[in-house]
Amino acid sequence: MSNLRLRKYGDPILRKKARWVEKIGSEERDLLSHMAKIMHENNGIGLAAPQIGVDKRIVIVDTEGELLKLINPQILEMEGEEWLSEGCLSLPEIFVPVNRAKKIKIEALNEDKKLISFTIEGFSARVIQHEVDHLNGVLIIDYATEERKRRMKRSLEEIANHTRMLLEMEKRRGEKMYFK
Ligand SMILES: [Zn+2]
Repeated sequence: MSNLRLRKYGDPILRKKARWVEKIGSEERDLLSHMAKIMHENNGIGLAAPQIGVDKRIVIVDTEGELLKLINPQILEMEGEEWLSEGCLSLPEIFVPVNRAKKIKIEALNEDKKLISFTIEGFSARVIQHEVDHLNGVLIIDYATEERKRRMKRSLEEIANHTRMLLEMEKRRGEKMYFK
């Protein structure tokens, strides 16, 4: 797991529907601890596996006092709604007001393979919805009005250009090794 780095806007993995996890073993547990490390290093409060380049339906959410680790999470029920401006580690300096359910019922597997189900509300419920969106290739910018999209255009292009540059460098690094 050497190539785990934070993926930003423009990286194709952020637009993919992530794959359902079919087994929970040491690889998945390793991934969870890498995710926690990268999230904390970047002062995040939630992270989805595709955001570090891994095609798996796994998210972590930092609720106050507890780090939730959710594998194959599904939102079963939603209640209420509330607008709040959201940011995203994959979209630095971009903020978009997003209308989300206030209260949700979640079902997922935990790292011990146990099926868990719980109801959660408030800010953590919002973060879970944001992370589950990532598993479906959805980003906060998709909720922006046309006017806001126009205003964000240049910033988004800058992030995407930087992402392209990094991906290109990684590709070339691979080629060089091939010819050695
Ligand atoms: Zn995000």
